[in-house]
Amino acid sequence: MSHEAERRVAVEAVLKACFLCAEVQSAHLSGGVVNKEDRSPVTVADFGAQAVVSDLLAATFPEIPLVSEEDSSPLKDFHNSRLKDGVIGYVRRYSPHLKDEDAIFAAIDRGQARGGSRGRFWTLDPIDGTKGFLRGDQYAIALALIEDGRITLGVMGCPSLPLHSLNEESPRGCLFVAVKDQGTSMRGLDDPSGKPVRVSALSDPAEALFCESFEPSHSSHDQMARIVTAIGAKRPPLRMDSQAKYGILARGEGTVYLRLPKNKSYEEKIWDHAAGMIIVEEAGGRVTDLLGKPLDFSRGRTLDNNQGIVATNGLLHERMLEAVKSVINSKEHGAGSREQGGKSISDF
Ligand code: AMP
Ligand code: MG
Repeated sequence: MSHEAERRVAVEAVLKACFLCAEVQSAHLSGGVVNKEDRSPVTVADFGAQAVVSDLLAATFPEIPLVSEEDSSPLKDFHNSRLKDGVIGYVRRYSPHLKDEDAIFAAIDRGQARGGSRGRFWTLDPIDGTKGFLRGDQYAIALALIEDGRITLGVMGCPSLPLHSLNEESPRGCLFVAVKDQGTSMRGLDDPSGKPVRVSALSDPAEALFCESFEPSHSSHDQMARIVTAIGAKRPPLRMDSQAKYGILARGEGTVYLRLPKNKSYEEKIWDHAAGMIIVEEAGGRVTDLLGKPLDFSRGRTLDNNQGIVATNGLLHERMLEAVKSVINSKEHGAGSREQGGKSISDF
């Protein structure tokens, strides 16, 4: 299947959400971050992005359900009336036909589908990397189509990601698009001409650029440091928020992205990985969990059959699985001992 219509609508929806989120972020940052605990800008952008994307998808594909993070109940709490007004204001500007609040709430609440192993559904992260969004760092709007448990389309907008390279001044704002068996392309947000991207051809792990979460509670920085040392990688890991890390791998700038769970009971959300995974795989890379198992998107809203993430350029995949296994199992650091609260790979 060519997925031409699905691709076109998904791109339009993600672009619209990118512009909405970038506008909220710049209003937030230019006002100075008065109170670091104030999460209201991300909340406005999160709900706003979910409403505009959901509405556009439903207009063309009313029969395809949406699995997404937010529901409208917090906006219905009268304590949050300022947030609600903020969301309504932005949504009306980006999707003017969504006039009344009930229509906006209904668009947001379409995202409560359960997913599963049969049929088609969309999965959306309206803002992935909310902490990066608030800091003025990276975040992503990530949308994927899943059919009978397999990802067939991924569109990811990264409004703050430099277009050419992380190391040089270049215009910001990238859109990655991947369709099953058709490759991955990247374009600027304002430039409709996408170019194919490929993962890096590096086979020497010493030269690899490792990527990890900025937030230490999302992935163990300590285990990552041990893996990087064990491999003899010369460069320190790149810490970045959101699925932009998958984009960095897909365009060959990063080589390995590891997500090393701090908490064994945490279940990864499908919207945090679906778009990123197909974007890396269609660019020639590989994505599995820590044991080398394929990510299983047929289980509902979470990846409850998997633990952690290993994404690579493919060439380094087996090597990384070995390194992860030996660091997680290493007795030297008490990690093999449950008494000391450590985790063994066999626990996964
Ligand atoms: P990142 O920016 O790569 O750290 O990923 C951001 C995503 O991490 C968010 O969208 C959350 O869904 C997810 N997240 C939240 N808590 C955890 C956790 N304890 N472990 C792993 N991921 C988490
Ligand atoms: Mg997320």
